[in-house]
Amino acid sequence: MLPDREGAARQYAVCERFDDLGKDDPDRTYRLGIMGGTFDPVHIGHLACAEQARDELGMDAIIFIPAGVPVYKKDQKVTPAADRLEMCRLAVASNPAFDVSSIEVDREGDTYTVDTLRQLRAHYPDNVELFFITGADAVMSIMKWRDSAQIAHLAKLVAVTRPGYAPPEEMKRVLRERTGFQVSFLEVTGLDVSSSDLRRRVADGRSIRYLTKEVVFRYIEEHGLYRNDEEGERAWS
Ligand code: NAP
Repeated sequence: MLPDREGAARQYAVCERFDDLGKDDPDRTYRLGIMGGTFDPVHIGHLACAEQARDELGMDAIIFIPAGVPVYKKDQKVTPAADRLEMCRLAVASNPAFDVSSIEVDREGDTYTVDTLRQLRAHYPDNVELFFITGADAVMSIMKWRDSAQIAHLAKLVAVTRPGYAPPEEMKRVLRERTGFQVSFLEVTGLDVSSSDLRRRVADGRSIRYLTKEVVFRYIEEHGLYRNDEEGERAWS
C-alpha cells in the first residue's frame, strides 16, 4: 500500500471520500461512476467527462482509478503509477463528488478491470450500482478483456466519445445484443484533448497550460514529466 501525501498509512479500503457510499439509506439506490484509464496524464477532457456523466447519468460519486500496469501498454513507456495517481488526486481534490482510488496501483501484477470490479462489488453494499466509464475505443475491445462475461454482470458500461467520433452502429449493436453488456454512449463536449497530445506537446516544448488543471500542469513541470531531455529520462526511472 502506498503512503498518502502525509506519509501515514491509509485508513480506507477504496478511497477517502466514498468508502461508506450506500450506507446512509439502505432503501435508496446509489450510482457510483468508476473512471478507468491510464491517465498519463489526467486532463480537462477526463474531468469534463466525469462531470458530464455525473450530471447526465445521475451519479452520486465518481472515483478515478488509474491503472497500475495497463495490460495493453507493455510495449509503451508509461509514467510511473505513483505520478499518475498523484496527478489524479490533485486534479479532483476541489470537487466533492470526485475522488481517486489507488486499488489498481496497489494491486500486484497486471491490471485487469474484472479484478477491480470484483473488489468494488465486494466492498459496496448491493444498493450501490457500478458504472465503468471509459473511452469508447477501449470499450469496443472489451469482449477480449479477461473474464469479460463477468464484467457484464458486475457493472454497466459508459462509453465516452469525442464529438464527431461516434463508434460504428454495427459495433454498438453487437456489443449490446450479443454480449449482455449494458452500455450507454456519452458524447462529451471538450473531450478533444488527449493524453497523447499533452505528452507530445511537453516533449516538443509546447505549452499544455489550461489543457489540464493548473496543479497538474505544475506537477508535470516540477517533476520533469514527458520532457524529451535528461530530466525527462530521469522521470521514467
Ligand atoms: P486507452 O486505449 O489509452 O484509451 C482509449 C481512448 O479512451 C483514448 O482516446 C483515451 O484518451 C480515452 N480514455 C481513456 N480513459 C478514459 C476515461 N476514463 N474517460 C474518457 N476517455 C478515456 O485506454 P486505457 O487507458 O489503456 O484503458 C481504459 C480502461 O480500460 C482502463 O481502466 C484499463 O485498465 C481498462 N482496460 C482493461 C483491460 C482488461 O481488463 N483486460 C484491457 C484494456 C483496458 P486519453 O488517452 O486522453 O485518456
